[in-house]
Order: sequence, then structure tokens, then C-alpha cells
Amino acid sequence: MRTLTVLGSTGSIGTNTLDVVRRSRQYFQVYALAAGRNVDLLAAQILEFQPKAAVVADPAGVRRLAARLTEAGLPRTQWPELLGGAAPLTQIAVADEVDTVVSAIVGVTGLPATYAAACRGKRIGLANKEVLVSGGQVFMEAVRQYGAELVPIDSEHNGAHQCLRAGNRREVSRLILTASGGPFRKTPREDLRFVTPEQALRHPTWRMGNRITIDSATLMNKGFEVIEACWLFDFHPSQVDVVIHPQSSVHAMIEYTDGSVLAQISATDMRMPIQYALTYPDRWQAPVPRLNWAEARQWEFLPPDFEKFPLLKLAYQCQEAGGSATCTLNAADEIAVEAFLDGKIGYLQISEIVAETLGKVPPRAPRTIGDILEVDGESRAAARGLVAASKGNREPESAVAESQ
Ligand code: NDP
Repeated sequence: MRTLTVLGSTGSIGTNTLDVVRRSRQYFQVYALAAGRNVDLLAAQILEFQPKAAVVADPAGVRRLAARLTEAGLPRTQWPELLGGAAPLTQIAVADEVDTVVSAIVGVTGLPATYAAACRGKRIGLANKEVLVSGGQVFMEAVRQYGAELVPIDSEHNGAHQCLRAGNRREVSRLILTASGGPFRKTPREDLRFVTPEQALRHPTWRMGNRITIDSATLMNKGFEVIEACWLFDFHPSQVDVVIHPQSSVHAMIEYTDGSVLAQISATDMRMPIQYALTYPDRWQAPVPRLNWAEARQWEFLPPDFEKFPLLKLAYQCQEAGGSATCTLNAADEIAVEAFLDGKIGYLQISEIVAETLGKVPPRAPRTIGDILEVDGESRAAARGLVAASKGNREPESAVAESQ
């Protein structure tokens, strides 16, 4: 029986995690759930999974959650401990009862609790990007020092994790990560400045949270994945390639020293990698669609356009530079994406704001989570200043996406 804390239970990864749990109740129990503001869904999850603790982003959320549980008629004796704020996230991640933490809070908020879980040697099913993009060095040192078990949930890293099981790490020469190419793969660069948030949120193959969907459109997400792969599997950035594969069926490939390439292939359903992260090294029956090999199909593999998607190139450069550069990259991108979704800046300004922020925040070598959060805060402030100073070059709605 595995006992879980799910950080980010109301999000896309969180709800898929709970669906995996729902289908195998005899093997999993939920110790704690953490969400941000969606108390309606969290209350429903509490009724169904009966955790011992539940965390929301702030005290007002705790009051709203308590009201929902009262309305639902749950006797007080059956309520979990209700907590609010950031500190309780760490409390539920390190609890002795918990052996597995699913890290699926969006943003840097998820970093301290995931780090703390690593310091307690837990198994971590890792979805949150910031843990490795912002804090890769500090976090991986803790994983090694305290013997934590890190199993990636992101489909590409999960695919690589599976391919790496086929051989010895010494025999590996490179990793190839696939990218769908996002909704603007075929859009000419000059048309990208007309892109609206609605168009950028239309991901061709995956349904995910807003930030990661925009990051997929700019290929920033693929850049983050390159950085995460370097930390997860100990690669130099020059050993990680990105290839555009619009069908999103092949998730990752590992090339071994003899030139043999192994690919991980599956349908686009996050419940498979989530379940793998929970059950590794075992494999269980998973409730995901199967590829029908009797159907005719074509798979394409194309090189990425680094000029059209400058954030991908920037990610390689930041990882190569080391230190705090990738932390600034992530923080600046989060602010720029938020500004884009709020209609304050245009699509092409996302990469401009990120590049300018990198030029403004002096790089350094973070040693602790506190150092990382400091760089993160400084980078956000710099990016916010740039957003405020920008005139916002949004153009009127256009027919950009319709041409794809
Ligand atoms: P969502 O936006 O769907 O979910 C985010 C979760 O974080 C929600 O449960 C949200 O709660 C919670 N949250 C936000 N702020 C706080 C807070 N202050 N305290 C506690 N909880 C908080 O994101 P996804 O599930 O799509 O992604 C989660 C992470 O996993 C991201 O870092 C993403 O990049 C990464 N990832 C996602 C993939 C996917 O397929 N979705 C694939 C690979 C990685 P609420 O909604 O209640 O406010």
C-alpha cells in the first residue's frame, strides 16, 4: 500500500493522479491533498478520498473549504486537518505516514515542499517544473544525499526514464525529446505578433494548465524540459536534442553508444506516466487508449526552428551558463506569460521580456532554497518592471490560427 500526498490535487496532473488512485484503491491511500483556490473541487476530493490533512493557499480558503464541508454534511469528526498557506505544504510532504509525494503545484510555490520531501528520502513523482528548472543543482544534491527516489511524470522525461531501463547509463550517448510544435508550428514568424491568448491556449494534442499550454506554444516548455532532463539524467545540454513530432506519440528516444535508438511510444494520456511514477519498478494495467497498429498512420520528425522559437535556444544557453540563469529564465517567463494572458503584452514580447530580464538580473550560484527564492523574486520584479514599461504591441484579432 502506498500512502500519498498530492500537491496540486485540483490541477490537471492532480486530478489525473486521483483518477489513478480511484482505479486502484486497494493499493493507494491518500494522506494529504493540497490545492490553491478551487475549494469546491477540493471539498469533493476530501469526501471521496478521506485524507488526514488538506491545504489551501490562504486562511480565507480554509474558511471557504470548511463551509463547503459543512454544506456537504460531512460530520466534523471526519474532517481532515484544514491548513492554509505555504508552510503546511512542507508539513504534509514530510509527514512520516507518507512514502510518495506527487509534486504537481504549478510554479515556484511547489519547490520548498518538494525539496523537503527529497530531504526525507521520499519517492517523488515529479511534475512541477520549477523544482529542476529553478533549483536543479540544490534539489539533485538533496536527492542524492538523502536517497530520495525521483520518478518524472512529464511524459517526455517519463519516456526517457523508461528507455534508460534498457541499458547501462555508461552506454548512453544522447537523449532526444519530442515536441508537438504547438499551435503555431506552421504559422509564419511575421504572423506571430497577431496571436491572441485564445489561439495560444489551443494546444493540438494535450489538455493542460494555462501556463504550460502557453509555454508549449512558445517552445519554452521544451526548453524547460531540456534543462530538467540534464538534471534528471545527468546530461550536458549538448547531449539533449529536440525534435518536432506533431503526432505526440513518441515521447522520448535514447540513443545508445552503438547507434541503437530506443523510443517510448504511447497515447497522449497523462495517467500512464503518473501511474508509472507511483508503481515503478512495476507496471500495472493502465486505463489509457491503446495505439491501433492496424490503422494506417504517419509520424513526422522535423528539426525545431530556433529562430522562430527563441526561448528554446535561450534555455540551452541558460543551462550551459549554469548557476541562477535558469531560475531567472523561469521566473521571467511566468511573469511574461501572465502578462500575455492578461492582454498586457503581445505574444512576441514574451521572449523579449524573458531575454531582457536575463540581462538585468546578475547571475549567481544559489546554494540553498532560500537563495533560489531570492533570485526568483528579484527576477520577477525585473520582469514586472519590463512589462509595466512595455507599450504592449498587441494587434487586433487576426485570422492567424485559421491558416494552420
Ligand atoms: P494546473 O494549473 O492544472 O494545476 C496547478 C495546481 O497547483 C492546482 O491544483 C492549483 O490549485 C495548485 N496551486 C496553485 N497555487 C497554489 C498554492 N499557492 N498552494 C497550493 N496549491 C496551489 O497545472 P498542471 O496540473 O497542468 O501542472 C502542474 C505542474 O506540472 C506544472 O508545473 C506543469 O508545468 C507541470 N506539468 C504538467 C503537465 C500536464 O500534462 N498538465 C505535464 C508535465 C508537467 P487550484 O487550481 O485549486 O488553484
